[in-house]
Amino acid sequence: MTEHAVVIAGGGPTGLMLGAELALAKVDVAIVERRASQELAASRSRGLLSRTIEVLDQRGVADRFLSEGQVVQVWGEFAGVQMGIGDFPTRHNYVLALLQNHIERILAGWVDELPVTIYRGRDVTGFAQDDTGVDVEISDGESLRGEYLVGCDGGRSLIRKVAGIEFPGWDPSTSSLIAEVEMDGEPELGIRRDEKGIHALGRLDDGRVGVVVREEHLGATDEPTLRDLSRLLVAVRGTDYGLRSATSISRFTDMTRQAASYREGRVLLAGDAAHVHSPIGGQGLGTGVQDAVNLGWKLAQVVKRTSPESLLDTYHAERHPVGARVLQTTMALTALAREDARIEALRATIADLLSIDDARKRFAGRLSGLDIHYDLGEGHPLLGRRMPDLDLVTADGPLRVFTLLHDARPVFLNLGEPDGFDITPWADRVQMIDATYVGKWELPVLGEVTAPTAVLIRPDGYVAWVGDRTQLGLADALTTWFGPPTTA
Ligand SMILES: Cc1cc2nc3c(=O)[nH]c(=O)nc-3n(C[C@H](O)[C@H](O)[C@H](O)COP(=O)(O)OP(=O)(O)OC[C@H]3O[C@@H](n4cnc5c(N)ncnc54)[C@H](O)[C@@H]3O)c2cc1C
Repeated sequence: MTEHAVVIAGGGPTGLMLGAELALAKVDVAIVERRASQELAASRSRGLLSRTIEVLDQRGVADRFLSEGQVVQVWGEFAGVQMGIGDFPTRHNYVLALLQNHIERILAGWVDELPVTIYRGRDVTGFAQDDTGVDVEISDGESLRGEYLVGCDGGRSLIRKVAGIEFPGWDPSTSSLIAEVEMDGEPELGIRRDEKGIHALGRLDDGRVGVVVREEHLGATDEPTLRDLSRLLVAVRGTDYGLRSATSISRFTDMTRQAASYREGRVLLAGDAAHVHSPIGGQGLGTGVQDAVNLGWKLAQVVKRTSPESLLDTYHAERHPVGARVLQTTMALTALAREDARIEALRATIADLLSIDDARKRFAGRLSGLDIHYDLGEGHPLLGRRMPDLDLVTADGPLRVFTLLHDARPVFLNLGEPDGFDITPWADRVQMIDATYVGKWELPVLGEVTAPTAVLIRPDGYVAWVGDRTQLGLADALTTWFGPPTTA
């Protein structure tokens, strides 16, 4: 039996990101992935939203994605209103159009540079946990042992099922086919909404056409075919535009479910294994990647015995509400996409409300993930929110805040008198940076906030403590998030 500190089931976007996070924290991690290569057969995500790009920027790899994708200022609509975040205070105030196939390839390329073991072409087939670890069965007859097992194995997660974690929610109300095809005719591109629901055709970079079309009935379980796609297109558009061949055809629904618990003993869930919903709004991949970034450093500290196991409970406490909100947003978007006189009235009413700029910002903040707020108690508005990527000045020259997070280590940023704070008992874990910053402190949705004199930033980029000249509460925050002080 081969041992690793952490075993991850599934090497999709979530599993890859978690693997990278654990490797950066110098934890021995292995991913078991069913697919023999990272190649993705079906069409899935078409891009990255702002907070996910920021999270990749925090690790210094955003440019790899930006250089292959296309920046889009407006990424979709809410009740017919185009949503954009061009006025938000972030370097990434846009959507990056990039197919999931490429997102996974780039992520996998990064993971290949890190000490992550990947067992490809193998399934996790079962597991058993005891007080000290988890025995993980693999389809090649081998088994692995990890102190922890993380199920990043997608919506049909075996890990979730074997762990006995409930997956309450709602059955699908719509079912659609999504395909990438070649057509001899000239298709009418664009999104159309009619009594049969939304159907859309868009030109892909290589000349093929991306198609999304709603199925007439729910519950089909067979593999969709070119003939099915042709029939549905003829039904909604009167022609299949000379549909000739397809590189991929798959089915998706708006089934909406969330794991009742993200942790069962030594087994944790992240990504689609923990939450599934309609792809409308483009929230899924980013939510999984951000689950991984929330969990990685916590799991690393527990495995390294720097922090007690109870730190892992904050993963569910912080990410379950975020997932629940994503479910709520996608259900609202699905309902608003229906064609019905009453829904049309609701759409018009919401569109009217969204013409109020504060309301537009509120929804854009939610869709982009830039408004995420972990409940870390009362205090300065920065507490529990993402640390902005400020341009700092240090004794060694200019420095971006996100650069300090590249190694996924916590940062204590002192913006007051040099050496004005003492964090010596945590100096082995927390980087101490003296810097100055002269600009505005502005948060998405909230606007300008008062400038703090110091901030404690977690490896996931969220602020764990905000200082206003005194050290009040700092030792508690350091202990809560990064373990007890080291005594000399
Ligand atoms: C049509 C469609 C459009 C979408 N559009 C968007 C979008 O625009 N934006 C967005 O953010 N999201 C979108 N999504 C959602 C996005 O694709 C998912 O949220 C994302 O892939 C989830 O990543 P994951 O790693 O959690 O799970 P998955 O991508 O499902 O990865 C799970 C991995 O686990 C592996 N696996 C499964 N079982 C086992 C096992 N037993 N042993 C070993 N390996 C296993 C699988 O092979 C897979 O690689 C869309 C999804 C669909 C279906």
